[in-house]
Amino acid sequence: MAKWWETEPVQFECQPDCFKCCMKPGVVTFDRGDIHNAAEFLEIKTSDFKKKFLVKDHGVWEMEMEEGQLCQFLTMQGCNIHTAKPKQCNTYPFWQENMRTRNHWQLVAGFCPGIGKGPIIPPEEIAQRLKDFKG
Ligand code: SF4
Ligand code: SF4
Repeated sequence: MAKWWETEPVQFECQPDCFKCCMKPGVVTFDRGDIHNAAEFLEIKTSDFKKKFLVKDHGVWEMEMEEGQLCQFLTMQGCNIHTAKPKQCNTYPFWQENMRTRNHWQLVAGFCPGIGKGPIIPPEEIAQRLKDFKG
């Protein structure tokens, strides 16, 4: 059965100076590739990157942001590791939990002002983002 986003247009464009999703409490996970990319970008060793920024929870490396806490990489100019940010950030808002139904997507639109704006995102691109980050 076709997914709703394969047959209905889905518009999205991240809004300049928004950063709402970077200020939300929660967890950002880093897989091996993400750690490698971010460490390389910051020109530090992967072991130092892990020690400085991440914690390991049930075998998964992650950054935890509690209520009122911002992501360590968020600056006034945006994400400090933008071109090397982890897949979880890179694929937002195209996450499995958000794309389940049109209603789920519309609920996320209440939070993310980029949804419903900008170009129509081709289903192939949505499928790729869903594949890149499984949540
Ligand atoms: S909440 Fe949406 S528009 Fe705002 S920074 Fe995140 S993805 Fe971009
Ligand atoms: S790593 Fe970058 S994109 Fe991801 S939450 Fe932090 S500031 Fe935002």
